Amino acid sequence: MVDKYEQVLELAKRRGFLWNSFELYGGTAGFFDYGPLGAMLKRRVENIWRDIFVINEGYYEIEVPTIGIEDIFIASGHVGGFSDPLTECQKCHEAFRADHLVQDMEENPDTLSAEELTAVICKNDVKCPECGGKLGNAYEFNLMFKTSIGPGGKRMGYLRPETAQGMFVDFPRLLKFYRDHLPFGATQIGKAYRNEISPRQGVIRLREFTQAEAEIFIDPRDKTHPKFKDVSDVIMNLYSQEGQASGETKKIALGEAVKNGIIAHEFLAYCLAMTHKFLIRVGVSPEKMRFRQHMKDEMAHYAADCWDAEILSDRFGWVEVVGIADRTDFDLKAHAKQSQKELSVYVAYDSPKKVRKFVVKPDMGVLGPMFKGKAAKVANALKALKAQELSGDEIEVTVDGEKIRIDKNSVKFETITEEIHGENIIPHVIEPSFGIDRITYSLLEHSYFEEEAKEKIEDEEEESGELRIVLRLPSEVAPVQAAVLPLLSRDELIKPGTEIINKLRKVGILVAFDDSGTIGRRYRRNDEIGTPYSITVDYQTLEDATVTIRDRDTMKQVRAPIKDIENNVYDLIYRGKSFEDAGI
Ligand code: AMP
Repeated sequence: MVDKYEQVLELAKRRGFLWNSFELYGGTAGFFDYGPLGAMLKRRVENIWRDIFVINEGYYEIEVPTIGIEDIFIASGHVGGFSDPLTECQKCHEAFRADHLVQDMEENPDTLSAEELTAVICKNDVKCPECGGKLGNAYEFNLMFKTSIGPGGKRMGYLRPETAQGMFVDFPRLLKFYRDHLPFGATQIGKAYRNEISPRQGVIRLREFTQAEAEIFIDPRDKTHPKFKDVSDVIMNLYSQEGQASGETKKIALGEAVKNGIIAHEFLAYCLAMTHKFLIRVGVSPEKMRFRQHMKDEMAHYAADCWDAEILSDRFGWVEVVGIADRTDFDLKAHAKQSQKELSVYVAYDSPKKVRKFVVKPDMGVLGPMFKGKAAKVANALKALKAQELSGDEIEVTVDGEKIRIDKNSVKFETITEEIHGENIIPHVIEPSFGIDRITYSLLEHSYFEEEAKEKIEDEEEESGELRIVLRLPSEVAPVQAAVLPLLSRDELIKPGTEIINKLRKVGILVAFDDSGTIGRRYRRNDEIGTPYSITVDYQTLEDATVTIRDRDTMKQVRAPIKDIENNVYDLIYRGKSFEDAGI
């Protein structure tokens, strides 16, 4: 039986949304091209993301190179650990994800090491799914595309496997931009690259894909969100750790989920709400969306809590499209260590704090003649000592690799009370990470409908019995937003049609002109690419300067004046004007 994936891809290829890359040369798995309609659809999805995260939340967008130097990915852990287990057929040399091949034999194959997977493959005599050949030992295959920077291959680089690192590396500059105030965030929409071992899930698993990520730097001592009360009543499908144990998804208000400790804190819950809002706005069906919490053994060791937005797909089941995590201070600490720079924020206290402090006061009158040029370094080493290191009669410090012993009488120390006005802290990072391609595919699938066409069209026979394919895309997402159709291909009707097209283009509406074939066929052509409004110019137009506007979903029509048509249609697309109100 043909499933939705096949139906959507057939339409997508035929009408210019999506197709396999490099088709001319036979194609390669894991790469897809967006055609004229697909590229526009994806851009509109990205712009809605911008509207929510950049414009409304104020997390400015940045753009950094898609190639990164090795230091970045050593710090992030990608050089050491961003890998999947690979096993290769000894006969046909096809490569496979070892954990995928043993899915029916093990409960959590993705938690097994390469050695353990090899043992499972041997024990169960798993053979190559392509040719039945013997499989080789599993080993960890790093998913980053490696490259060299400049001639001679001296400097190693990688195509970035996520956009996130750009925001971490730019932390000091961003901190200045935001005038040293927490919380602040930066976003990026751009390409990420992962050399997936054997991508067999079409548009779902790509080797080059687009991510939209926000890294929000917050004060670890306060994980509330100032706007949380605006979303605390939002009810969402939560598939929590507890729910997964009993296989139950619960509809629950976010406020309650935070209060009951299901979601770790308000800030994370607020990001779940933003994600929910975005996915619904672009056209994902709310009933085919859930938020799944990572199980404890699945969560990164440094993460405080992590949730995936998952979308139900006809062929692939529940697919992760967004990951929302509290990454604590892991990333900034890792980059601080690798770069040897301090990555912290000075936060002032509301009122000064009195603290007791142990201080060491070296006597330079003694140290100067004793150590001459080295005296200052010795003094600094002494000042860094802790109380417990001063217990014996002699004190030992290391200066320039040399161990130096000093008589305790050359050093005074005491505990003083000091007033401090603030401290340096390492922010925690909340990261919502969106896969734009998976989302774009999902909304195509969720908006795809086939129905029997029943429509009475003026001057046309009723086209019943015919299949109507319709993409019920939200009107702000549809690539073509209006079609102008002269009832007949005659100059006297084409002229007002052209006038309408020009008016619509002036307000930024993407409009198509179509005068070939019956009006019914033209409606169908526009229905299947999701054009929300079709404007028909007929002979009445010449008498009273009105046109019909047809609504894609209900197929209802209203008559509306040409005068101000651009604002009328704009309000229908962007301002939620009701279709009835568009008519006279
Ligand atoms: P991750 O960094 O693995 O949590 O990925 C963040 C998001 O990027 C996921 O939720 C997916 O939507 C998307 N993503 C990850 N890997 C791929 C891939 N190979 N192809 C397409 N999208 C992906």
